Amino acid sequence: MANCDAIAQVAVPAPFHHLFDYLLPTAEPPPCVGGRVLVPFGKRRVVGLVTGLTNETPIERRRLRAIETVLDTRPVLPEELLKLLLWASRYYHYPIGECLATALPSLLRRGRPAEPALERVWRIAPAGQTIAANALRRRAPRQARLLEILQQSARPIGCAELTDSNGDWRGALERLAARGWIAASDRPVYALRRSHTRTAAPTLNLAQSKAVRAITAALNNFQALLLEGVTGSGKTEVYLAAIEAVLAAGRQTLLLVPEIGLTPQLVARFTSRLDAPLAVLHSGLSDTERLEAWHAAGNGAAPIVIGTRSAVFAPLARPGLIVVDEEHDTSLKQQDGFRYSARDLAVVRARRLNIPIVLGSATPSLETLYNVRRGRYRQLRLPQRAGGAATPEFRIFDVRGKPLREGLSQPLQQRLQTHLDAGRQALLLLNRRGFAPTLLCHECGWIALCHRCDARLIYHHPGKRVRCHHCNYDRPVPAHCPHCAGPDLRPLGLGTQRVEAALRLAFPSAGLLRIDRDSTRGKGAFEARMAAAQRGEAQILLGTQMLAKGHHLPEVTLVAIIDADQGLFGSDFRAPERFAQLLIQVAGRAGRAAHLGEVVIQTHHPEHPLLQILIHRGYKDFAEVALKEREQAHLPPFSAMALLRAEAHEADTPHVFLAQAKASAQPAPGITMLGPVPAPMERRAGRYRAQLLLQTAHRDELQALLRNWVPRLAELEQARRVRWSVDVDPLET
Ligand code: ADP
Ligand code: ZN
Ligand code: ZN
Repeated sequence: MANCDAIAQVAVPAPFHHLFDYLLPTAEPPPCVGGRVLVPFGKRRVVGLVTGLTNETPIERRRLRAIETVLDTRPVLPEELLKLLLWASRYYHYPIGECLATALPSLLRRGRPAEPALERVWRIAPAGQTIAANALRRRAPRQARLLEILQQSARPIGCAELTDSNGDWRGALERLAARGWIAASDRPVYALRRSHTRTAAPTLNLAQSKAVRAITAALNNFQALLLEGVTGSGKTEVYLAAIEAVLAAGRQTLLLVPEIGLTPQLVARFTSRLDAPLAVLHSGLSDTERLEAWHAAGNGAAPIVIGTRSAVFAPLARPGLIVVDEEHDTSLKQQDGFRYSARDLAVVRARRLNIPIVLGSATPSLETLYNVRRGRYRQLRLPQRAGGAATPEFRIFDVRGKPLREGLSQPLQQRLQTHLDAGRQALLLLNRRGFAPTLLCHECGWIALCHRCDARLIYHHPGKRVRCHHCNYDRPVPAHCPHCAGPDLRPLGLGTQRVEAALRLAFPSAGLLRIDRDSTRGKGAFEARMAAAQRGEAQILLGTQMLAKGHHLPEVTLVAIIDADQGLFGSDFRAPERFAQLLIQVAGRAGRAAHLGEVVIQTHHPEHPLLQILIHRGYKDFAEVALKEREQAHLPPFSAMALLRAEAHEADTPHVFLAQAKASAQPAPGITMLGPVPAPMERRAGRYRAQLLLQTAHRDELQALLRNWVPRLAELEQARRVRWSVDVDPLET
């Protein structure tokens, strides 16, 4: 053994904030840091990950247990990634073993071999190079064809590739091999994406070229760059050009996108433009596919890795650049378990790797803009829409006292007709799925409520059902009011299904696609609907915020927000920021190609300052005002927050636990502890929820408090009676 360390520090997949010490096995090869081991843990056997080797332990040696099996002699997690995860575990105060479990593909967690699976591939042998395929053609046409293919191919070809287009050629391959004309070898399976057709890059405009130069100039250093540009301003083209430079330097790019942004179109755009294979990581992969993509990233077979949130933990053999697209998108933050922000961790990772990171957005988060202001991030702007498309025009339709047909005002219907007559598409946003958010008894005023949540049941028209959107409770609409037995139960308020019905009546000859979570449940259903929209199969697209994100719909010239009031009066301090982002994003869908677009906003509050500033002065000015307000109120990004949440079946228990937790903390003078207070929706899925908010101007103080406090929470008397969790930098308070 090269070193004489006798103890391995192991992270086990269990809710503990510390590592466990194990003796090294005597008979096995020694474990390595970053490699997996099988260890006894309580009465179980678990797959743990070695994070360090040492000779020191506070525990009596004879009480230590030994590693049972060493699963890896080489690390599955490179040192850089292991350290990042250790850092993240400390920063988010989440058990290290469970952080590691989030990062590792499930097959590796379950102890599968860390080597990629192999497939048989064939290439031409020296003896086969000069054989004339034609001479074989009559006697053995298949062998002739194969010989030809392999003679012309620069790289080995797999059975699957051959079989696909040419039938089953296994027998012919064997015979050619027996003659010594071709040779077989085994190659790892990676499931990489690559395209054989190339599309040409457009000539970049001045702002784009400047942005690309700024990124490529930073390739050997850490630098965080905000690439700010409206939808259609050509951000993706900037990424592509920067990635070319990274490829030329022989290094890898990691591109993170929001869940909904990772579409086949995006992947196709990247593969057709870049002469390099691409690994894709997202939640819809099978375990095997995920492992293959992970290997391809980790050993460098994939020069480009595109993925959603958890891809921030993809291993990279030769990291060169990280890009986070739509950096403001909340789906980049995990909202349960290990509550990390993939954007923030990507920045941390880039700094540790000493490589640049590009954060792209039309509507950057206030956190990121604040970092720009403090000089931590450099800002790059794409001020215009690429390809000359004009910025859409905003119109506010004051609907006070006006007749509305299922939420649609007369003027909106007229605009819609005008755009349809011109042969264009219209996109209507209503951020509420279902038919109506309330079912009311006209006799007595009874309202259908969820018995497990503090929420109304949503009326869904197909099948006449009421559903809870928080706990998935679902039942048929009662025939009579359960309170007064009256028969007159009425849907109240607007959902997408209701507006859909109204639109079909008002515009019977226009094709309509409703796009919300209900209409896109099946795998690929969202994609299929968006593709149909792109092909022009529908003129009216109606949907929830899903529609606001990322798709190129060149024929859309009218965007309408049916009910802006919904977004103007949120309770969370981030509600204005979210509304502004949604408005600007959805407005960006209008008029992307040659035609001028218009954005209609229906509201009962036309003078609302948030609306006024957004449509007259734009997102940038909005952000400045919003930052000022946050500063005055000592809210993030001018302070740091953490939230301790607790829930239980009894109403009091979470409060008692949180009060105990609060009493057990020793906060520095600068830290305020607010609560315990009920959560915004106190009862959900039958559990009562409460929270304690920690806030301070000094992140370090908060971290110091949490470091001491969180590991001891489990020992509180009430801890076993609640489910609790810590959320550092929470997005919802
Ligand atoms: P974003 O990512 O900011 O939404 P894209 O990069 O997708 O913008 O560009 C929007 C559209 O404009 C795409 O169809 C793209 O091919 C085109 N485009 C981008 N840059 C240019 C350019 N410099 N010249 C011509 N077309 C461009
Ligand atoms: Zn009633
Ligand atoms: Zn419910």
